Amino acid sequence: MRMLMHACCAPCLMAPYKHLSEKYDITVFWYNPNIQPYREYLRRLKAFKEYTKRINAKVIYDYSYPLEEWLYKASILSKKSNVLRCKYCYADRLYKTALKAKELNFDFFSTTLLLAPYQKHEIIKEIAERIGKSVGIKFYYEDMRKWFDEGERMAREAGIYRQGYCGCIYSEADRYWREKIE
Ligand code: SF4
Repeated sequence: MRMLMHACCAPCLMAPYKHLSEKYDITVFWYNPNIQPYREYLRRLKAFKEYTKRINAKVIYDYSYPLEEWLYKASILSKKSNVLRCKYCYADRLYKTALKAKELNFDFFSTTLLLAPYQKHEIIKEIAERIGKSVGIKFYYEDMRKWFDEGERMAREAGIYRQGYCGCIYSEADRYWREKIE
């Protein structure tokens, strides 16, 4: 069975890839315009390329980076709530993944967003299932949070860049700026 697995970054790919590639023929999909600013995007992309080469993974890249559009939508939603902004961010990436999986006749798609305990797990699952139904491709769900500690360990041992915040400039501000002025 062939799976197209969206990967948000190299550290989050490690443990899910290790476990799921024992059962499935995995191709990894890169599409993450939520990573800002652009130099951070390049840094995570470089780490991702380095690691996927190291493990000899098959990868499909979508380098599109619609910054103005992304920030325009995210800023409107952010004013209402962070959850709405994250829903948009998840849906954007999962929709691209589902379309690509359908186009290339994969059996299902999935995402490493299911790994981190600080992500909105149930929302990701619900959005992905809805997108899967609308695009006509199955979403593979597994609660990958059970592999989070192992993934952290693997990333440390691999010496791969590990980012300090989720991705967008809003999450960067939450992580560094607000924290420091309190
Ligand atoms: S906090 Fe993370 S999931 Fe939420 S919008 Fe920002 S990058 Fe996306």
